[in-house]
Amino acid sequence: MHTALLQRAIDICLQKKIRFTAIRQRVFLLVLDQEGAISAYDLLEKLKEHDSSAKPPTIYRALDFLLEHHFIHRIESLNAYLKCEHFGCEHPMQLLICEKCKRVIELSDPVIDNAFSDQALQSGFKITNKVLEAHGICHNCLYN
Ligand SMILES: [Zn+2]
Ligand SMILES: [Zn+2]
Repeated sequence: MHTALLQRAIDICLQKKIRFTAIRQRVFLLVLDQEGAISAYDLLEKLKEHDSSAKPPTIYRALDFLLEHHFIHRIESLNAYLKCEHFGCEHPMQLLICEKCKRVIELSDPVIDNAFSDQALQSGFKITNKVLEAHGICHNCLYN
């Protein structure tokens, strides 16, 4: 499954003529491997298993690249990163973050997104960065 996602990312990069270096691919795979959120620190620890010389800037540069091209998401309230199942395009996003198991459910409802933007507009407010994140307990943790 990860190979298919990686291939899709490689194809997008070829199409857009952007460089998808080995290190960027490795960090991308590490994010894909993670169920839920992963911090830059944990990514660095995992990267060090392959490459002991990896340093924080290595990770941050790779993450910036992956974010810029919409391959992954940043979870602002956790200061962490999340894979996107339908990556490669910019889309509205709302996140439901489980406090217990750290699972993250990604919603991309344009209705919620537009309603929020409309309310901002009515208040004469120009949004430059929009983050909709909710913390709580997921279905699994609630009933198991
Ligand atoms: Zn997404
Ligand atoms: Zn949970």
